[in-house]
Amino acid sequence: MKIIKLLIIIICFASNSTAQTSPAEPSTIELTSTDHGLAKEIEILHQQITTEEGLNSTKLFTKNYLERLINPINTNSILPDTSCIVTIPIVFHVFHPQGSAGVPMSQINYAVNDLNLTFAGTDADYTTVNPIFAGVKSYTKIRFARALIDPKGNPTTGVVYYQDKQSGFGNGSGWDNEIISCAWENHKYFNVYIMNDLYANNTTNNSGVCWYPSTFMSNNGTARMVYNYVYFGQGGSSYNYLEFNQTFTHECGHYLNLYHTFEGNSCTGNGDYCADTPPADNAGAGCLVTACTGPINGENYMDYNTSCMKNFTMEQNDRMEAALLTPSRQSLWQYDNLVATGLLNPLSTNSCVVLNDFFAYTKTDLVEAIANNGTIEMPPISIYACGSTQFSISGGNLVAGVHYNITNVPAGLSVSIVTASNGKSATMNFSGQATNHSSSNSVNNILLTFTNASIIGGNVSAVQNNTKNFRISFKNPWQQICETLTITTTPTSTWNSFETAGPVPRFYGLWYNANTFYLENYGRGIITTGISSDNIQFLTTGTAIGAASTWRIGGGQGVLYSSTYTSLNNQTGFVGFRMQIGNDFFYGWMKISVSSINGITLLEYQYNEKPNETILAGSICNSSIGIDENFNDMHLTLFPNPANDYFTFQNPNETFSEAELCLLTLEGKIVHTEKITAANQKIDIRFLANGIYIVSLRYKSEKLEYYGKLSKN
Ligand SMILES: [Zn+2]
Repeated sequence: MKIIKLLIIIICFASNSTAQTSPAEPSTIELTSTDHGLAKEIEILHQQITTEEGLNSTKLFTKNYLERLINPINTNSILPDTSCIVTIPIVFHVFHPQGSAGVPMSQINYAVNDLNLTFAGTDADYTTVNPIFAGVKSYTKIRFARALIDPKGNPTTGVVYYQDKQSGFGNGSGWDNEIISCAWENHKYFNVYIMNDLYANNTTNNSGVCWYPSTFMSNNGTARMVYNYVYFGQGGSSYNYLEFNQTFTHECGHYLNLYHTFEGNSCTGNGDYCADTPPADNAGAGCLVTACTGPINGENYMDYNTSCMKNFTMEQNDRMEAALLTPSRQSLWQYDNLVATGLLNPLSTNSCVVLNDFFAYTKTDLVEAIANNGTIEMPPISIYACGSTQFSISGGNLVAGVHYNITNVPAGLSVSIVTASNGKSATMNFSGQATNHSSSNSVNNILLTFTNASIIGGNVSAVQNNTKNFRISFKNPWQQICETLTITTTPTSTWNSFETAGPVPRFYGLWYNANTFYLENYGRGIITTGISSDNIQFLTTGTAIGAASTWRIGGGQGVLYSSTYTSLNNQTGFVGFRMQIGNDFFYGWMKISVSSINGITLLEYQYNEKPNETILAGSICNSSIGIDENFNDMHLTLFPNPANDYFTFQNPNETFSEAELCLLTLEGKIVHTEKITAANQKIDIRFLANGIYIVSLRYKSEKLEYYGKLSKN
């Protein structure tokens, strides 16, 4: 019996939900709605309009912007020259058990290409729009593209494949922690989550949902579209309903602040705030029908229709252009961000680009390397001198104090900036090891300022981004996230869920249905009796759980007990599980007891915060910072500590003479056991590597264990 208890307090990001909504009880029968989840989409968008205060600023900004278009106060367009295309970088987070085989790049490319045809007005059916609306139909200069550089500055396809399934990101609240853990910086990337069960209610025919521009959501990491791969593009997992699949365009309309043409379901009122889309009092009334004041634009992307998605209107285009200038969207399409995300060649001579002199940085958020030793994660930062800007030194070092100044660099790190031979780019590196690198040593105020000497022509103030703010996040030593709990599901309390603490928050649930006890894992990897079996296998203490384990991926809920699977009955054991962020896996175990009569109880779980690190089933929680040492309580002593070759275990209590002492690594691996036979027992540790060890003492006739910590030098 473990008595170590570690309370991890994680300061989570503020949630945009007022209350954390637990996942709904699963259903074994797939719910079939015929509206493709659109009713749910309406509900969620209404919720954002009516409850999110931050949206008021978007509304006010849009109103002011559009009034200015009609009554120009300032004729200088804030948008780039009207002939210049505006591109928005997308990252697709694809959750499908078969990964790239399930949602292949060809399916994604089809969807993006089709999206751009609809925004450009070059989709074939744009020419067949009802003539009544020929005068108001509109194309846009907005385009979308998969990002080609990721937030760390590495090349990417703009698609992050998850092997482990995920559900629920379409919910308006409750799933924010999970969403945030997967998100790429919302001010740089349009985050699109591709999954099958948008609301985690075992309903797989909901098509999509997307939130309006919101500074709060973008700052929070929850700005997003969530979209179902069966209504996405062509090929792969798509049902190939190609016209209906332009719901993807509809959701991008929401991303750029378009409301439904039937907003409010009323013939009067503001509707969608676009005068050129006639009022409609019903969703999806039809392609060519009359309602309210006359013919409605049923072919509009922002109505609900399944067979005739054909046009945006001019005022919708104006609203989208206004949205591009809101704080949550404006940074996305700026040229420096397009260079940073790989979508604009920094040497571009496009006339829209060369009019701008700017520096672009592939990243400004740096993190400590996985080694956790104060070094900074690679790759270095690339800095591009764009337009007519050029570094004054080619193929050499820029000199601090001459070409640039930099402040607030943590002690132990040094900065170098080396230019390329053409003087158009430079590599900025933070080398060395930060002296202090706990998370509390993280800095957000490193400021780089180029001087006139840095560029040819010597007028750096005319170059955008000539100063840049960098942040470095340090990590506390890697640890295991552990919680002891008592969550019991019985035939009368049939559903209980919990979310893992720490940096990888994920929901799990214990469920009883039809004489069967389940672990709801939402299709994420668990260890079962075989890769095609949902029957959970209990692991014995010390079993390694990691990349080499045999994982059940994308199956149904794990079965702990059923009429045909009874071998875990009346047992307590360890269930191996894994969670995923990007390409990294986080391995852990849950300790669960099973009784067909009394139900199933989750007693404890643990996972490694360090990515891709094996964990041992039943390992002792933690680590140099979390262990609840209680040797002092029992007047037990280790000395010397730190020790070199030997230490003495002092046990003043004779009743402990039958105890067994055990030395474990911080990962819980037992490296030595020894019977305690004397009040002062000398223990030989010459064979041990230097490091920190857990010392446990177990008294033969007691279930309790006592813990101390030993340092070997
Ligand atoms: Zn919609």
